[in-house]
Amino acid sequence: MTLINHWIDGEYVSTVPSRTGPVFNPATGEETSQVAMASRDDVDLAVAAAKRAYETWRDTPLMRRQNIMFSFRDLVAKNRNELAAAMTAEHGKTIDDALGEVQRGLEVIEFACNIAHLLKGDFSEQVSTGVDTYSIRQSLGVVAGITPFNFPVMVPMWMFPIAIASGNTFVLKPSEKDPTVSQMVAELFSEAGLPDGVFNVVHGDKEAVDALLTHPDVAAISFVGSTPIARYIHETGTANGKRVQALGGAKNHMIVLPDANMDLAADAAVSAGFGSAGERCMAISVVISVGDAADRLLPKVQERIAKLKIAPGDTDGAEMGPLVTQQHLDKVTSYVAAGESEGATLLVDGRGIEVDDCENGFFIGPNLFDNVTTDMSIYTDEIFGPVLSVVRVESYEDAIQLINDNPYGNGTAIFTNDGGAARKFQNEIEVGMVGINVPIPVPLAFYSFGGWKDSIFGSHAIYGPEGVHFYTRPKVVISRWPDPIHRGVDLGFPTNN
Ligand code: NAD
Repeated sequence: MTLINHWIDGEYVSTVPSRTGPVFNPATGEETSQVAMASRDDVDLAVAAAKRAYETWRDTPLMRRQNIMFSFRDLVAKNRNELAAAMTAEHGKTIDDALGEVQRGLEVIEFACNIAHLLKGDFSEQVSTGVDTYSIRQSLGVVAGITPFNFPVMVPMWMFPIAIASGNTFVLKPSEKDPTVSQMVAELFSEAGLPDGVFNVVHGDKEAVDALLTHPDVAAISFVGSTPIARYIHETGTANGKRVQALGGAKNHMIVLPDANMDLAADAAVSAGFGSAGERCMAISVVISVGDAADRLLPKVQERIAKLKIAPGDTDGAEMGPLVTQQHLDKVTSYVAAGESEGATLLVDGRGIEVDDCENGFFIGPNLFDNVTTDMSIYTDEIFGPVLSVVRVESYEDAIQLINDNPYGNGTAIFTNDGGAARKFQNEIEVGMVGINVPIPVPLAFYSFGGWKDSIFGSHAIYGPEGVHFYTRPKVVISRWPDPIHRGVDLGFPTNN
């Protein structure tokens, strides 16, 4: 069976790991490879390689760094089909979805290709007699990224292109559930001319993560994953003196007002609720129906669900693939059972779905609940699967209150034709990314991505301008070059005139 080993200092580690874990094809349930689980010693090796590489990478001319990013961009674009196929084989998502993910990653690489402009500082001439002041932004050193299973190409690319283009060196700890694409990315980066040690990959679980969080030579940690782990990463990383950005989980609500275009809202609810089998941090998991909106919306949602093609991700026309693991399937299935026993109305039951030739695959179809209340576990918990809940409220104010009372604040959307209602929503809603008649409001690469409340820990959102700020620190220089006039020693307080 294939062993997926760490990539350190420009090559695969050749020693046999002391611990490994299984990687599955979710469509068949078959174990396809074993992934190495890094020990503290493995992490030490990766950080040491990154630290050595930093000495020269930080002073590598900007134009050279930028050119490597351009070459890397071309190679990722050229290999997008291979990357997508590898993702589908371990994550389960459809090929179309995987190609879309590569595209979003590419957009961040393209943003990083412009790093020379992004790192420009300010200059003020003659702030005092013969004195100039200027600001520069410098890299941090060795930085680490810890990423979730659901976007194995895109989420690491939210981090390392900007970190590396800014002059840092990087250690990536991807999800152990779909590790292969990180290897492909490392090889492409090397082919693009990236010096050895600038980008390293260590596979593994908590042991590897804890080694990174406490390593004295790691300056900063970027994390994306579930809220309990994000909170832990932030607390542990900052206690160890590191700069930390930790993006957590979500429970994204979509309000439908009675005046909305119900066809548009139904398309949006089905796309955002069941796309990627609900395994997206920006998936819609709750529709809040104001007044009688649900009575007109739900038949249209059910009509659309009935037409979805559920099949292995590499099947032509597949719209929804399997979940990532059997364990995750069991968890999602148990939430559907809980919703039923807690008294919600199960309109569509996706359990026990049969997919041709995939009797051991991790499939579940779409699930739709009506009459969900805020005390039910299908409402309170992030399920991260194809389960859409409809909560009915009397007024628009109640809908806004419900979202603002929720501990998560990643994404949200409103569907309405009332500009005033939309404007009130944008102004009052306590959520980081807001869609107006747009269900999944993911910012493009030149903005930054990040939620509010328990969906983020730390003060920096990810990628875009905030990414550049996270991976660099400012320095202000005040300079005076001797001029022919010297006033002699003066112990008085400088008066700037
Ligand atoms: P996860 O939190 O289980 O794992 C994320 C990473 O943390 C993985 O690399 C994993 O190996 C590591 N990890 C897991 N348990 C750990 C522990 N006890 N100690 C230290 N490290 C640990 O998340 P997941 O299941 O891979 O991904 C799904 C979650 O990610 C969902 O909650 C989803 O909302 C969230 N997510 C958030 C965003 C965002 O931008 N806010 C984006 C994508 C995914």
